Amino acid sequence: MTLAAYTMRALPAQLSGLMAIALDLQWSWHHGCDQLWRQLDEEIWEATHNAWLVLNSASAERLQQLAEDPEFLTRYQQQLNRHEAFNQCPTWYSENCGNQLAGGVAWFCMEYGVSESLPLYSGGLGVLAGDFLKASSDLGVPVTAVGLLYQQGYFRQALNAEGEQLEFHPYNDPTMLPVNPLRDSNGEWARVNVPFPGRTVRLRAWKGQVGRCELLLLDSNDPRNEPGDRGITSELYSGDPEKRLQQEMVLGIGGWRLLAQLGRKPALCHINEGHSALALVERAVHWQQQNETSFEVARLATRATNLFTTHTSVAAGFDRFPAKLARLYLEPWLQEIGQPLETILTVANGGSSDLNMSGLALGMSGRFNGVSQIHKQVTQSIFQPWFGRWPAADVPAEYVTNGVHTPSWDSPEADELWTSACGQDRWRQPMTDLCPLKETTDHDLWQMRRNQRHRLVYYLRARLQSQHCEHNYGNSEEAACGLLLDTESLTLGFARRFTDYKRPDLLLTDPERLIRLLSNRDRPLQIVLAGKAHPHDNEGKDIIKRWKQFTRLPEVEGRVVFIEDYDMAVASELIQGVDVWLNCPRHPWEACGTSGMKVLVNGGLNLSQYDGWWAEAWQPELGWAIRPGATFEELSQTDKHDEADAEELYQLLENQVVPEFYLRNEQGLPANWLARIRASMNELTARYSANRMVREYVTDFYLPMVAQGAERTAAGADELVSVKETIARHWPRLRFGTMDAREEGQKLRFDLDVYLDGLSPELVAVELVAESSSFGPRLVQSMAFNGPLQEAEQTYRYYCTVPPRPLEHFTPRIRIHEPRLNLPLEDAHILWLR
Ligand SMILES: *Cc1c(COP(=O)(O)O)cnc(C)c1O
Repeated sequence: MTLAAYTMRALPAQLSGLMAIALDLQWSWHHGCDQLWRQLDEEIWEATHNAWLVLNSASAERLQQLAEDPEFLTRYQQQLNRHEAFNQCPTWYSENCGNQLAGGVAWFCMEYGVSESLPLYSGGLGVLAGDFLKASSDLGVPVTAVGLLYQQGYFRQALNAEGEQLEFHPYNDPTMLPVNPLRDSNGEWARVNVPFPGRTVRLRAWKGQVGRCELLLLDSNDPRNEPGDRGITSELYSGDPEKRLQQEMVLGIGGWRLLAQLGRKPALCHINEGHSALALVERAVHWQQQNETSFEVARLATRATNLFTTHTSVAAGFDRFPAKLARLYLEPWLQEIGQPLETILTVANGGSSDLNMSGLALGMSGRFNGVSQIHKQVTQSIFQPWFGRWPAADVPAEYVTNGVHTPSWDSPEADELWTSACGQDRWRQPMTDLCPLKETTDHDLWQMRRNQRHRLVYYLRARLQSQHCEHNYGNSEEAACGLLLDTESLTLGFARRFTDYKRPDLLLTDPERLIRLLSNRDRPLQIVLAGKAHPHDNEGKDIIKRWKQFTRLPEVEGRVVFIEDYDMAVASELIQGVDVWLNCPRHPWEACGTSGMKVLVNGGLNLSQYDGWWAEAWQPELGWAIRPGATFEELSQTDKHDEADAEELYQLLENQVVPEFYLRNEQGLPANWLARIRASMNELTARYSANRMVREYVTDFYLPMVAQGAERTAAGADELVSVKETIARHWPRLRFGTMDAREEGQKLRFDLDVYLDGLSPELVAVELVAESSSFGPRLVQSMAFNGPLQEAEQTYRYYCTVPPRPLEHFTPRIRIHEPRLNLPLEDAHILWLR
């Protein structure tokens, strides 16, 4: 494989600037250049929406023709200027953050969904990663993302006549993907090595440009690697744990080595899910070697600027490897870095035998967060085992609710409406004071909705055609080809992974009832479905089959359609056109969910389980929530939960959604429906944008973390490690003395003696805790230091007054007090009286 194979063909000199524009994935959300690509090669552009491929496919003759076409040249020059201006203009970050993130943010994720022409994702996690990068680019936040270039990526789906899922793995030819070999400062193709058992795995590096941000991708398909190793980066989520560990080594170890080799010195490392935890270890090791310290000092020094975002909702979802597998694969690397596996296992989970990657990420990070308010609580409880006797409520998980990159998901119609209401560049600014759609009339709003729905119906028909309309299998060809879909009917969309907890079959709980909704002559409902089931998920596949069979019932045929091969392109059509987006996951399994956010900008409405983001966004006037009042205890009984949720889903559709959509005023407008759209667009679009999300990460996490990191010099970290050692030495001998409680006016006063074994009182905090009960919410009252006891060595008295509750409700505890540490994450010592 020569470099020449990846060198761009010669372009006519007048058009040389096309290269940079074609390699900047901005074309996937900014449509200024669409016309240029269309003129270069309309067929390829329409089929792939991959500008790089268009540029590489256009004939020399065509290029020469256009190089002499004044109209084309003008348009090209305009776009070239725009591109340059974009790269140079001040940004939210440059104007507000004083370059405090010099060196940039290293951002790791197992998958990236930037565009369907770069298919390196399977679902929500990857699409979020793509949206994060695009919003970082808009805001000018210096993020460098690191990921894997999969030769096959996630499988592609079709259904056979019986509704069974077929899985295809077409090959991603890197020369056709909108990425380029990554060159180092000598112009050489950047490569890194990762030690594997008995061999070295060589990795090639690629670069994708996402506006102002870079996406660096590694792949192992180097001809010098052993055949098996060349396939490490073939599929995403193949289900084989050995391959998974290999991929995580390539991503984490290889990824950090690549940054180091390029001379990057990131100010902060943010890992999106635990898959890339090894990057944090590799980072600590590099720091250790540069500063000649122990691993422990290096870990404490670097972790202050490591952020770990978790998207997991159940402990079973943690990424885990048996110790034997971990030992086999990690041993050569561990030898190189001079650590036994036990060091890694201790950091990850206090030495237990499996290697838990989320545990490792936690043990290497300074802060960690979930992705919605509810998910923060879920995270507190599933990570509680890492915090010894700390109650879940004190587990220091934080949250940043996910958001979507608005300019990537808005429809042309919505773009026009928002532009006339709020101006051109609204999505690139901090969307805090986004103008409400005050001047927009109901007429305009409704026209936008209708046009979007029309476009969707035509898209669905074309898609169904390309799915071959299932000749001979449906009851009628008309139905199978989507000709019975109606451009004016209420259209409900449901598209996501077909997996148990998402309950894609909730609507099928009572098929008769659904049939009544679909076949209502005056107020019909139509449904568009899409989604893949993981190749190993037979239950998910069965649900697809059941839906497929349902769509063929004579009463409903043609009114429920299943679109194959759900991906970003399909998602984008559906979320633009549907009136209502349905999401009905089993609570509390949806960490956040983002697909429902994509309809907001387009005036779609949400009908969703009260879970994830919708639990914090929902207000009665904005959309519909399934069982907002249900208690957690009720919800944890799965069977009843499903039944009651289905009942409420049907009721909402029958009594609220359908009637409101069809209730028209004297002008024929659904005034109540439009009021809801207006409220949802105004209230939620900006709040659930990736723009808001990225700004939250920067101001609430990155900037304060980098400030704390600056204190963690070799000397500073070394001192903190000794503090931790001192604490650990004394802790086993700490004990409580006398506790006295008495009424004092309307309050209770507690006096408590504690023996500190010579530990300085400065290093501890004493607190009185009462769990929530009918007497009030949870209370954590810090007790004031009242000096040493004269006659008892190393013993100090603490006191506090609290509102009254039965005495046995109060328990005192001793914890560490050290403002330079993030507690209890960086030291979980705690002692309870009982
Ligand atoms: C947005 C998106 C998702 C995320 O969907 P949720 O069901 O909300 O988690 C998954 N897949 C694709 C293709 C998407 O565009």
